[in-house]
Amino acid sequence: DRRAPLPPDATRWPNRFAGLGPAFHTPMRGTGLPDPHWVATSDDAAAVLGWPTDWWQRWPEALAVFSGNATWEGMAPLASVYSGHQFGVWAGQLGDGRALMLGEVDTPQGPMELQLKGAGRTPYSRMGDGRAVLRSSIREFLGSEAMHHLGIPTSRGLCLTGSALPVRRERVETAAVVTRVAPSFLRFGHFEHFYHHDRHEELRTLAEHAIAHHFPACREAEQPVLALLSEVTERTARLIAQWQAVGFCHGVMNTDNMSLLGLTIDYGPFGFLDVFDPQHICNHSDEGGLYAYARQPKVGWWNLHAFAQALVPLVGQGQGTPEDVAAIRAALARYETVFAQALAAQMRAKLGLREVREADQDLVNDWLRLLETQKADYTIAMRSLCDFSPRDAGPVRDVFMDREAFDTWAARYAERLTAEHSVDTERQAAMRRANPRVVLRNHLAETAIQRAEQGDFSEVQRLLAVLSRPFDDDSGTAADAGFPPDWAQQLSVSCSS
Ligand code: AMP
Ligand code: MG
Ligand code: MG
Repeated sequence: DRRAPLPPDATRWPNRFAGLGPAFHTPMRGTGLPDPHWVATSDDAAAVLGWPTDWWQRWPEALAVFSGNATWEGMAPLASVYSGHQFGVWAGQLGDGRALMLGEVDTPQGPMELQLKGAGRTPYSRMGDGRAVLRSSIREFLGSEAMHHLGIPTSRGLCLTGSALPVRRERVETAAVVTRVAPSFLRFGHFEHFYHHDRHEELRTLAEHAIAHHFPACREAEQPVLALLSEVTERTARLIAQWQAVGFCHGVMNTDNMSLLGLTIDYGPFGFLDVFDPQHICNHSDEGGLYAYARQPKVGWWNLHAFAQALVPLVGQGQGTPEDVAAIRAALARYETVFAQALAAQMRAKLGLREVREADQDLVNDWLRLLETQKADYTIAMRSLCDFSPRDAGPVRDVFMDREAFDTWAARYAERLTAEHSVDTERQAAMRRANPRVVLRNHLAETAIQRAEQGDFSEVQRLLAVLSRPFDDDSGTAADAGFPPDWAQQLSVSCSS
């Protein structure tokens, strides 16, 4: 019986991944944070688990559990092994170097895995210390909750604990543990691991596990593994279309950070665009700009090829015959169309277009080119466009330095709206649901981080509330929705976290 897991001491903490056996993971306890304290909790993420908002105060040992110091009865934490391609290069074995899966909670949406990040070294830590710093943990916690409320598939941030424990990065910081929630943290890299180490039996076991628990519809297909590849391809395409539409840069699109379920995972040096710059690189360590904003769709495609390669032994007789390869290519080929259609639909919604017309792509592209050449702020320009009317352009005109360039585009936009008899009030309301007023810009996170480093966590909780309703007109202050301050340009976010 695996029903409602309340209270936690009544939970059996199922863990279906644990059943796969020792080739896939190492069972282990965390190395907890000394003298931990709460930093933040997300009521909304707790609700996903069916937990009450005061769970963290109500349940004995909650602080100890979510700082890696204790486990509730039935929890059997484990770290999983995976490999992956990093910046286009095969990186060999990686794995949960600082993540521990605690177990699953059954919910109406299915089982959810709980994972600690930063609870000490594991057999997969390599040179790392197994720790996460408060700075990056706040960014992951807020970033994942923000993405969820933007309607973008993502792991969730349940809670955040901290400690005075010093952790050395570019400077000495303090340690934190963020608890993430997702139906599965399986990555492309889990499959690549067994493929590249010639362990095809384990590869098959993993694929069967993934299909049985996370892609049950694929079981009906003639070749379930090909159906899995198609589904993962489509989900990844749709996910990255959402990233592009909202101006999200992941920063480290290595195959070990690519979710099998098409979720945004492993928030590191991510960022939301301020000015619309297609070449924007959010990760200071990404010197070549391999993962620049405009490259994300291509990288997603490349990563899917790495994933598909790992599935070759499971397709047909596993020999990679021309027929098998053709079938794999056909599954991957869905990417381009699904991505293009998803992005076009998103951009139409952002421009408030109900109908589909041939010239829409040009209208969108020219809008984006205008934003780029005018160095306009992406979120502000899009949100301001919500007030546009064919009779009166409104405040969006002032977003542009070259107002005549805007007027030229606006005349076409006005004509296009009129052609579908667009009703201003209806369109504007719909556009406000497609264009967020507030996103987690680096400087907003930075302010919360600086206060938290002084022991004041109120700004983390305030930002969480603001980011929980990013489309509302009264969400956050004018500053939250405004231009980034000059100092934001000096912020640099790197892989070190
Ligand atoms: P990332 O680029 O953060 O996704 O991490 C790549 C790999 O390095 C993963 O296997 C992580 O678990 C591992 N890793 C990153 N930071 C640490 C750390 N501080 N300690 C141990 N392992 C780490
Ligand atoms: Mg990672
Ligand atoms: Mg990381």
